[in-house]
Amino acid sequence: MQLDCDLRFQSEEEAYRYVEGCMWPDGPTCPRCGEVKRVGRLNGSSTRIGTYKCYRCRKPFTVKISTIFEASHVLMHDWLKAIFLIGLSRRAIEAKDLGRILEVSPRTADFILARIRRATTARDPAQIFESLSSFKSAEKSPWRKPRPTPAGSAPSPQAPVASPPPRGDYEAS
Ligand SMILES: [Zn+2]
Repeated sequence: MQLDCDLRFQSEEEAYRYVEGCMWPDGPTCPRCGEVKRVGRLNGSSTRIGTYKCYRCRKPFTVKISTIFEASHVLMHDWLKAIFLIGLSRRAIEAKDLGRILEVSPRTADFILARIRRATTARDPAQIFESLSSFKSAEKSPWRKPRPTPAGSAPSPQAPVASPPPRGDYEAS
């Protein structure tokens, strides 16, 4: 199976440049402080592809931060192929098929599909690209307090079972 995107994204650099063009139409933008001017590309031999440094907050960043690509070891051109395959296939693509085409493990394919689906149910690559960042807001932030569980809903399997309050006069501290 030969697709246009196979030819377009043969290298990781090319794939990063494509995503950067989509995410940063006005040039590299620091995802932490929003700086666009005092930003430089890092080109050291040990530097990971697509790494920039913000000279305002002094932190490095890549286009993956705060997107579905964040903290994953999946190659960027595999992510892009997956996004285009979802758009090209008539039926919902299954993890085993995606794994076979991308030559990744079924587990990795499952991870890719789960992340894309968490960001959007759209199958049009352009719409998926628009939703790349919305994935982050759906993620649980460790520093954010969990929302109170709505009354009547089932507790999550990991949640400790709340013990009933003791009978009699009891004042909650
Ligand atoms: Zn910054």
